[in-house]
Amino acid sequence: QHTGAICAAANKRLLILLNPKSGSGKGRELFQKQVAPLLREAQADYDLQITTHSQYALEYVRSRKDLLERYAGIVVASGDGLFYEVLNGLMERMDWRRACAQLALGIIPCGSGNGLAKSIAHHCNEPYDPKPIMHATLICVAGRATPMDVVRVELNHRSRHSVMYSFLSIGWGLIADIDIESERLRSIGAQRFTLWAIRRLITLRSYQGKLYYLPAEQPAASPATPTCSAPAVSRISLPNAPYSEFKDLPDDQQSDEFADALSTDRSVYRQTDSWHSAASRRTAYYSIAGQSNRSRQSVAQRIEAANAQFAELVPTGNMPGLQLPLPAEQGWLCEQGEFVMVHAAYTTHLASDCYFAPSSRLNDGLIYLVVIRGGVGRPQLLNFLLSMQSGNHLPSEPDPFICVLPVRAFRIEPSGSQGILTVDGERVDYGPIQAEVFPGLINVMTT
Ligand code: ADP
Ligand code: MG
Repeated sequence: QHTGAICAAANKRLLILLNPKSGSGKGRELFQKQVAPLLREAQADYDLQITTHSQYALEYVRSRKDLLERYAGIVVASGDGLFYEVLNGLMERMDWRRACAQLALGIIPCGSGNGLAKSIAHHCNEPYDPKPIMHATLICVAGRATPMDVVRVELNHRSRHSVMYSFLSIGWGLIADIDIESERLRSIGAQRFTLWAIRRLITLRSYQGKLYYLPAEQPAASPATPTCSAPAVSRISLPNAPYSEFKDLPDDQQSDEFADALSTDRSVYRQTDSWHSAASRRTAYYSIAGQSNRSRQSVAQRIEAANAQFAELVPTGNMPGLQLPLPAEQGWLCEQGEFVMVHAAYTTHLASDCYFAPSSRLNDGLIYLVVIRGGVGRPQLLNFLLSMQSGNHLPSEPDPFICVLPVRAFRIEPSGSQGILTVDGERVDYGPIQAEVFPGLINVMTT
């Protein structure tokens, strides 16, 4: 069965979001020439939305009321950047859980950064080059979907706590530096990476900081990597730390007044403009707390009930909040020192020519943390960078400078204030950042 048949059976269609500016700016033409004929042949009904500006797709996906009724899937005809918008738009919906479960997501690589499209083709054992658009379209009309991991990222953006959802990578140090700094060489095309990599090898930098991580497999005896125990924490009183910001919930009497003051109508949440902003979460939280308040439970019971209800609205995960310590007794390890790079990846490819995490599977529930420690020699580093294309860059024997750690969650605390951090290849504010994998949260179109 192909997508057309599935859409027809469900009386639904595909939503295609096309970025006319992506890649070399030929999105529309590529679509008409290469994609539309194949969709026609597969008898896939679709609505085509052409984005007019950055954030258009995010807004569209977040706010379109009949999204789940009308569509069986969303196809992004662009680079990874537009897929990022679609993912984050879905996650900001009230019905994010149902949306992630029901909508299959596809990507047709019309952009310049196409790590996801390449990773999906790799997963499907389908060709990619020399006709990536054609091959990806064939995958999108094949009519199957496979669960894929998503990573929830917490950081401070413009001095405000913010949450985003990532599907490719988080970078600190070398590769992030090369990615972002080489943008000034955009005019010379793909060679900018090579040139800047050489430059950065000559002027090699390392960064001080702490790396915390939760290994996927608990080490049996002594961990193979140098670790120091996380800061002494006897107890974290609020395990659901995303709500730590609400621990100043008013006492009994005050919250009675809250209950009167706040409408419990769910429209409160719908109207909240930016769902993940602390202010809107607070409003929603108080509203739920006010609701359960009627039964005159204890504050603790109310917080628990509200957390449970709230968790349905916003995925929270298991990590303590960014400002809270990480409990060593739950298996958290910490490495402090100088890093040339920490680069986390969850898909096999970060770009169509970068086979960064060869062991990765779409749905393995793993983050691959590639760590390069200070003191690494330039020849070893050069070899690493040159081998990324073939996927032979990771040491097969334990190595004192380069290692890959499969983890479920991690946190980076850079010491200084100067440096580059990226999420899915885009620069974010420099500072503490943490991430946790949500296994199989979305479904991507596969053969
Ligand atoms: P590329 O791989 O070529 O960079 P992306 O899909 O990653 O392509 O898109 C790059 C950025 O362009 C995204 O961050 C997206 O928000 C933005 N964008 C989307 N639509 C438009 C538009 N119509 N005009 C300008 N920018 C857009
Ligand atoms: Mg994975």
